[in-house]
Amino acid sequence: MIPSVLPTYNRAPLTFVKGEGAWLIEESGRRYLDLGAGIAVNALGHAHPALVSALTDQANAVWHLSNLYHIPQQQALADKLVEATSADTVFFTNSGTESCELAVKMARKFWYEAGFPERVEIIGFEGAFHGRSTAAIAAAGSEKMTKGFGPLLPGFVQVPWADLESVKAAINDKTAAVIVEPLQGEGGIRPLPAGVLRELRALCDQTGTLLIADEVQSGIGRTGRLFAYEWEGVTPDIIMVAKGIGGGFPLGAVLATERAASGMTAGTHGSTYGGNPLACAVGCAVIDHVSEPTFLDEVNRKAGLLRQKLEGLVAETPDVFEEVRGVGLMVGLKCKVPNMQVVSAGYDAGVIIVPAADNVVRLLPPLTISDSEISEAMTRLETAAASLTQTALV
Ligand SMILES: *Cc1c(COP(=O)(O)O)cnc(C)c1O
Repeated sequence: MIPSVLPTYNRAPLTFVKGEGAWLIEESGRRYLDLGAGIAVNALGHAHPALVSALTDQANAVWHLSNLYHIPQQQALADKLVEATSADTVFFTNSGTESCELAVKMARKFWYEAGFPERVEIIGFEGAFHGRSTAAIAAAGSEKMTKGFGPLLPGFVQVPWADLESVKAAINDKTAAVIVEPLQGEGGIRPLPAGVLRELRALCDQTGTLLIADEVQSGIGRTGRLFAYEWEGVTPDIIMVAKGIGGGFPLGAVLATERAASGMTAGTHGSTYGGNPLACAVGCAVIDHVSEPTFLDEVNRKAGLLRQKLEGLVAETPDVFEEVRGVGLMVGLKCKVPNMQVVSAGYDAGVIIVPAADNVVRLLPPLTISDSEISEAMTRLETAAASLTQTALV
């Protein structure tokens, strides 16, 4: 008999009932160090006092208003995002997949209004993840995500990851945009090699193609800059945001330059919940916190500390791990044993890590994790790795 919750997930046998900072507490009372943060969502950890009060204060005022009216919290958050980025305008969504939908619609509408209605194609990369809507799975194109869900939305092509020559060959007079994660998350924490995003920007500029940066996982301070594209000094035309921006409250956004957004006039797009007061009040608190002068410096410092310790772990357990990769606090460990074994051994040792493609486990801790929590996490990861080394030796 089908379970009452549609069984699209293989869930771990863990039920958490409380979160405190970088910790999750199970029903049994057992405490786990959370290096998953709800897959890069709980950017400020669990139950951060500033977020709790932003949410409860707003809950006591008003929960929901239609976008038929002005929403001050939405206006405030849009102003903060425009101030902090190269973008000029923001549309709020509830998830990454909805941000993908709008990014695709916006790029196509731009070319339609510019008098090139044939420019509809979106070039993406193999191994990408942009969400679960029909547009988002078509953009990623992998068999794993698209099989059985055809006919797929037309107008998407994929090229090998980071392969500029293939992008060059794929751009033609039908191309609307290139969509790229500066750092693939689900694909196995695969950063674009240095310079590639800049080259992509140049290729787009030469051909008028719009550049869409999917920063759903890499954004909001995760890599040590507000957005990962900043490391390359480029400015995307359209930026997809979700996950960390709500700190655990469902919230997403599409940021765009005035030019890229020029086709999106009144009536062309909308959302019932997108930009609601509760989500935006929390989003404002997240952005205020991440924008504090020393916050990102601390993320970078802690990322360096974690990286160094992880390099040590890989060196000590070469039969379990192959390499460390990633940027900031978006880190992957490429495994030599099946990655789900590492995830399970982590649970046994009281540390939560998240699997990704390419046999990688991801570490996406709250950006607020402390030095001593990083040390404790390492002790637990060493225990997990040691248990697998023993298994490997048997
Ligand atoms: C998670 C993710 C998405 C999809 O976000 P949802 O909120 O799950 O719809 C899109 N792109 C990237 C890079 C992601 O990591």
